Amino acid sequence: MQFFVQQSPLRDLYEKVSEGARISEEDALRLFESKDLNGLGAIADLARQKRVGRRASYIVNRYINYSNYCILSCQFCSFARKKRDADGFQFSIEEIVQKAREARSLGITELHIVGGLHPSLPFSYYTGMLKALRALDPGLQLKCFTAIEVLHLAWLARKSVPETLQELKEAGLDSLTGGGAEIFRKEVRSAIAKGKEPADEYLNVHRLWHQMGGRSTCTMLYGHVEKLEDRVDHLRQLRELQDETHGFVGFVPLPYHPDNNEIPVDRPPTGFDMLRTMAVSRIYLDNFDHLTAYWVGMGGLKPAQLALSFGADDLHGTILEEHIFHMAGAHTPQLQTETRMIEAIREAGCIPVQRNTFYEPIKVWEQSESAAGAAPAQELQAAAAAAADLRRDHGQ
Ligand code: SF4
Repeated sequence: MQFFVQQSPLRDLYEKVSEGARISEEDALRLFESKDLNGLGAIADLARQKRVGRRASYIVNRYINYSNYCILSCQFCSFARKKRDADGFQFSIEEIVQKAREARSLGITELHIVGGLHPSLPFSYYTGMLKALRALDPGLQLKCFTAIEVLHLAWLARKSVPETLQELKEAGLDSLTGGGAEIFRKEVRSAIAKGKEPADEYLNVHRLWHQMGGRSTCTMLYGHVEKLEDRVDHLRQLRELQDETHGFVGFVPLPYHPDNNEIPVDRPPTGFDMLRTMAVSRIYLDNFDHLTAYWVGMGGLKPAQLALSFGADDLHGTILEEHIFHMAGAHTPQLQTETRMIEAIREAGCIPVQRNTFYEPIKVWEQSESAAGAAPAQELQAAAAAAADLRRDHGQ
């Protein structure tokens, strides 16, 4: 046991995790309230090592937002637009396929596709998009749509949620994304995302998808108006569903960004808060293998790299073109090169692993191996420039 754990007021929880015992909600709240970040990090690192060892992963992927038109107006959202807004956009299926075609040359293995709850696009647009992307590359993994989008599509198509999921699956959907979870507690949800479906509907979409053999990720948007008890409640509901289905492949805590939206928060999540939230999530979510430090939301690769010592075992992806956090004030770059991610993981004392959508290893980078074969920075920059051109064409 490290010296600072012997001295830590959290020592009993270190021993609990060391023995493989599950911590309670009271324990999780105690961890959240503790100022002993070193002790917390030591417990989280122990939990992470017991679960996945010293490997840390990343994915070579590309984000595509097919549209930012949305019928809802969640108070925390900086991304959604109405049809009257000059900076609203929507892409045709051909344009989305073109974006995917360009990114394929960079070696992406995944497309991550989400949008707003579009007022009028028919269900055939979504299935057509999946089929066209599947035809472009049968091996490309399609991680698309939040549970909230799925509920919207079911309503649009006048189908049940299982029927909707089945049709999306048959069209090529590989995984659901984790967005739309926000904070589950009803009072907080109404304060930040009025009109959005409640927690049980979000969780039920994932449950049904898991029961069909599907896999997904899940998220928590923290650092706005919620209390620490609300974060614990949120994690409890995720842990319970994971006990039931074992269908979540990863958890992504998302720090709130306050620009261009309606929730006045003087102090968005600090570095301390980001690290403790990652650590408590790792310790409490003892039935999750993977926790992702989402570098876009955390303020860049540097804090995400630090999170690898606080329970995270994944740095997310190269991304290429991110809108949702940038429209909310994130000043991070639009992309990371694979080489930089490998270096960041190595510097943190971990073994870099390129993964697929399901966090399964594609390539383990041995210590002696140079990252020269990784997607070259110049090509990534060129693809990002092409994406920016396409955005300009759409008046963004
Ligand atoms: S968070 Fe999603 S559902 Fe809510 S307004 Fe923004 S795009 Fe629409």
